[in-house]
Amino acid sequence: MAATMPKAHKIRLNPTPEQEAYLRRACGTRRFCFNWGLAEWKKQYAQYQEGKRDKKPSAYELKKQFQASREQDYPWTLDVTKCVIEGAFDDLGDAFSRFFDGQNKYPKWKKKGKSRESFYIANDTFELGDHWIVVPVLGRFLMGKQEANGTLPKKIRNKNTYKRGLGKVNMAESLRFVVPDPHKKPGKPRNERKKVACSTVKILGATIGMDGGYWYVSIQVEVPAVSVVNTNPVVGVDVGIKESAVASNGKRFENQKPLTKHLEKLRRLQRDFSRKQYDPETKQGSKNREKLQVKIARLHGQIAHIREDAHHKLTTKIARTCSVVGLEDLHVKGLFKNRKLARSLADAGMGQLLRFFETKMQAVGGRTIFVDRFFPSTKTCSQCGHVKKRMPLKYRTYCCRKCGWVIDRDGNAALNLEREARRILREVLHVPVPDTGLGRT
Ligand SMILES: [Zn+2]
Repeated sequence: MAATMPKAHKIRLNPTPEQEAYLRRACGTRRFCFNWGLAEWKKQYAQYQEGKRDKKPSAYELKKQFQASREQDYPWTLDVTKCVIEGAFDDLGDAFSRFFDGQNKYPKWKKKGKSRESFYIANDTFELGDHWIVVPVLGRFLMGKQEANGTLPKKIRNKNTYKRGLGKVNMAESLRFVVPDPHKKPGKPRNERKKVACSTVKILGATIGMDGGYWYVSIQVEVPAVSVVNTNPVVGVDVGIKESAVASNGKRFENQKPLTKHLEKLRRLQRDFSRKQYDPETKQGSKNREKLQVKIARLHGQIAHIREDAHHKLTTKIARTCSVVGLEDLHVKGLFKNRKLARSLADAGMGQLLRFFETKMQAVGGRTIFVDRFFPSTKTCSQCGHVKKRMPLKYRTYCCRKCGWVIDRDGNAALNLEREARRILREVLHVPVPDTGLGRT
């Protein structure tokens, strides 16, 4: 079997208001199931500790228990596709295994409006076209509604076709990675299952969710892995606030600071929002309040997209020209504790940038090397190796007291990161790379 690589494509959805009601309900069901599972887990684990149970809880067992009592206790969960429930318990299992591995904190409750709203659909339950996706059970849900309120057309030629049509949600673009299959016979029925999937791309599943005021589907696929010998140069990249990234080969990438640019608009919206009527007892707000909430979410989404776009372009550029990227393993969460820096750090979105580097380098057969965050990349002179005691953030230029070398702060750090990455390659990973040593400009 050839090596494969997982990839995902997030596509904006344009559901009708009726379709949106179903998507919201599916998200709600997923949230409910997750929370039900978490509550049961806590309960059963306590019983296990008291000796009343001989087994620790597991997501799989909890799912079985939920399925058994679901029809009786929670019949409304039958309105949405069963994948929602499967996905919720899988997520719960993942959350606990990440907790046991020490990667995450103890799983938290999913809160309406606070947690990311999404649900999973399995690959054999949805149908994909050029610009549409048939969401499972959505057609049945809408048809039931039409039947209930009497809007169902009297004459329906084919019930299944009609149902399928109702469940078809428009996608803003078609799935990437797909190249036309030369072996496919022309003239196959248009409604062929997973029409766009070809022999080289395998669809694994999808997640539908709300993000920044819009609905999206993220389709996970498996594509053949590239196995090329990458002989491009090694580069060190200093990621920062002033500039998004400075590479040791001289390339610099501006930080567009989308949040700072939109801050005034955002604050105005939030101020208007807080002035709108809200009844804390019924938890009901005015219509205008709801509209503003969507506006705020969309602005946040827009800001995130500007940042994401810049990061994608930057990392792609570097991944195309380099084989190894040396980066500082920033303790991003720790940095956030510095409140003065927190906003500009969030605006730089450094965690995302580091993740993009990792996946993109992997995709071109290269690698990312994370240099220990205590490595003095900014304090060291890239020319003679002298290490300064202090190098406060306000100093934008590195002036070496020992050899008189003058270089800008980030460029200096990038050169040091490149040298350290080379050292790690040679000494730790035993990859033969030349030591360019000190004194490179
Ligand atoms: Zn020096």
